[in-house]
Amino acid sequence: SKTPRSSPPLRSSDTSRGPRRELLVESTSLAKKFGDHEVIKDISFAVEKGSVTVVIGPSGSGKTTLLRGLNALERPDSGVVRIGDVSVDFATVHASKRGRLSGSDRELIRRYQARSGMVFQSHNLFPHRTALQNVTEGPIVVQGQSASEARDNARDLLAKVGLADHVDKYPSQLSGGQQQRVGIARALALEPDLLLFDEPTSALDPELVGGVLDVIRDLAAEGRTMVLVTHEIRFARDVADQVLFIDGGVVVERGTPARVIDQPEVERTRTFLHRLL
Ligand code: ADP
Repeated sequence: SKTPRSSPPLRSSDTSRGPRRELLVESTSLAKKFGDHEVIKDISFAVEKGSVTVVIGPSGSGKTTLLRGLNALERPDSGVVRIGDVSVDFATVHASKRGRLSGSDRELIRRYQARSGMVFQSHNLFPHRTALQNVTEGPIVVQGQSASEARDNARDLLAKVGLADHVDKYPSQLSGGQQQRVGIARALALEPDLLLFDEPTSALDPELVGGVLDVIRDLAAEGRTMVLVTHEIRFARDVADQVLFIDGGVVVERGTPARVIDQPEVERTRTFLHRLL
C-alpha cells in the first residue's frame, strides 16, 4: 500500500481542524438485498483512523445489515470496502450454489474479516467456557498463539474491561453487563484495526448499561477506531466524531454530532431524534 504508516506530526499552528488523518475505512456504494428487499443501498462513507463513527436510525433501517456487511458476516451484493490494507469489491465475490467461495475469494474474505472485530448485541459467549477461555479461544485457534501467551493477553484484556476478579467465572455466573465486557475483551484479543459494535447495550438491564458504555468510552479515548450502532443518543453525542443517520437503507445525514444530532437538517432525522431525546 502507498499509504504512509504514520500521520503527519501535529503542529501547534494547526488551529482549525488539525492535520488530516489517515482513513482506515472507505465504503463505496455498499448494497445488500434479501430477496427483492434492498436493505442497504449505495452506502458510502469513510472512517478516519482513531475515530468513532456512530450509526443511528429507526428499527429496520439497515444498521445491523450495514455493520454485518462491513465485517462480511453478511456478504454485501455490491460495493467496495477497504479496511486498512485490504480492499474487497463485493460484486466480484461469488459463491457457488452451495454457498462456497473460490479459494482466492475465501482467502481475501478471511484477510478482510481479520481487520475488524465484532461485538454483538448479546455476547454469544461459549456457556461452558470461563471468561478467560472465551477470550483465549480466538487467538489460540485462529491466530495460532501459544496457550500461555493467549492467557497472559486475555488476563490483561479482562482487567482492562474491569473483570480482573472474574476471569475464571462462567458466563452464567456473570451479569449481562459483565458478559458483554467479556465479549469486548474477546474482540480485542484478535487485535483488529476496527471494532464494530452492534447495539452493545440494548439487551442489558438499564443499570448495567453505564459500565459497558464506560468501557467503550475508554477504548475511544485510547484511539481505537470504532463503528457503533446504538440508540444511546447522549452517549453518541459524547463519543462520536462522526454520526451517520440511516433510514430506508441509505445515509440520510452524516456529520459531527453537533451537526447531525443537535442541528439536523433533514425532517426525517429531526423526527427520529425527537422520539429518542
Ligand atoms: P436495523 O438494524 O436498522 O434494525 P436490520 O439491518 O436488522 O435493521 O434490518 C433491515 C431490514 O432487513 C429489515 O426489514 C429486516 O427484516 C431485513 N433483514 C435483515 N436481515 C435479514 C435476513 N437475514 N433475511 C431477510 N431479511 C432480513
